[in-house]
Amino acid sequence: MRAAQLETAAQNGAALDGESFIRPHLRELAAYTPIEPFEVLSAKLGMRTEDIVKLDANENPYGPPPEVLKALGSLKFPHIYPDPESRQLRATLARDHSVSMDKILVGCGADELIDLLMRCCLDPGDAILDCPPTFTMYAFDAAVNNARVISVPRKDDFQLDMPALLEAAREQKPRMIFVTSPNNPDGSLVPDEDLQALLQLPALIVLDEAYIEFADHPSRAGWVGKHSNLVVLRTFSKSAGLAGIRVGWGCFPPELITYMWRAKQPYNVSVVSEVAACTALSCQEYLKEKRDLLVQERQRMTAQLREIPFLEPYPSASNFVLCKVVGRDAKGVKDALAKQGIMVRHYAKPELSGFIRISAGRPDQTDLLMKALQAL
Ligand SMILES: *Cc1c(COP(=O)(O)O)cnc(C)c1O
Repeated sequence: MRAAQLETAAQNGAALDGESFIRPHLRELAAYTPIEPFEVLSAKLGMRTEDIVKLDANENPYGPPPEVLKALGSLKFPHIYPDPESRQLRATLARDHSVSMDKILVGCGADELIDLLMRCCLDPGDAILDCPPTFTMYAFDAAVNNARVISVPRKDDFQLDMPALLEAAREQKPRMIFVTSPNNPDGSLVPDEDLQALLQLPALIVLDEAYIEFADHPSRAGWVGKHSNLVVLRTFSKSAGLAGIRVGWGCFPPELITYMWRAKQPYNVSVVSEVAACTALSCQEYLKEKRDLLVQERQRMTAQLREIPFLEPYPSASNFVLCKVVGRDAKGVKDALAKQGIMVRHYAKPELSGFIRISAGRPDQTDLLMKALQAL
């Protein structure tokens, strides 16, 4: 059809514009709204990057262990292509998490693995199911992959609406179901019994554990393989402080991972990424210390947020806290803080427009945040 249109246009001497080459479903894609790079933000606010209190993207304010920077400064083979199988990193992950190495695949962030899974599992017109409010990359990647999105909204306390979810799954037969534990943006966990019920469905269950290190709850990575329809995704972006380097990983059932290996870009994980991730994993003490500081800070911040009359913080098992903003405009609160160089997350989506999400930072950052909130 599209080929015929292009041919007619060419015969009529019509100019072929770039858009005519784009696949029709992608012409419907909403324009990408870029986040402001840290340096651009700094120039805009007229503040040094180190003075900006960046609590809007759940990044780790402590950064990676100092050994990572040392290792990156003395890379031996930056001029040689990386190992397409990331063997060193996968072996280290396998050892640390007691999962066999052949269940592990590494990617350019967990984001790449979400897209790769969809490219491997979805035909055009297939559906995924997600449970908003949640991480928006599932719906984004579904749109890029010409898949439909079935949304089953979470309940008021952000728990999964299991009866609605099971019914939607039975009626609409999604190929993949995405659940996030702890969930972004509220930090709630998916209970074992909910996950067990989901695993009975004839769908691939993708459990996104980007923040599991911050929860007092074990990862379900060990469940992979016992269930042939479970994938667990993890990342180095949050607790390991490597968001800018881009490394994520996942545990996949053997029958699935075979095809993901065939479909992935051979050099998706750079030498820089592999060295940074392996070095970070060799510094468990540092990672644990910073993780504990962030959990402690989340608790301290939550208690103080409760004292702010216009904020209602939700309990969180992660490194961020979602707050309902009452009697005030949430976007107004976000903008007023941003003017002072304190960045928190606000969402344009109607179901979240009355909320802000604040990442746990260093104690001095929480103090600045609280002072600014008290003065609003
Ligand atoms: C941050 C985040 C990720 C991962 O990101 P990468 O940086 O691509 O590894 C995945 N899932 C959720 C829910 C996240 O918030």
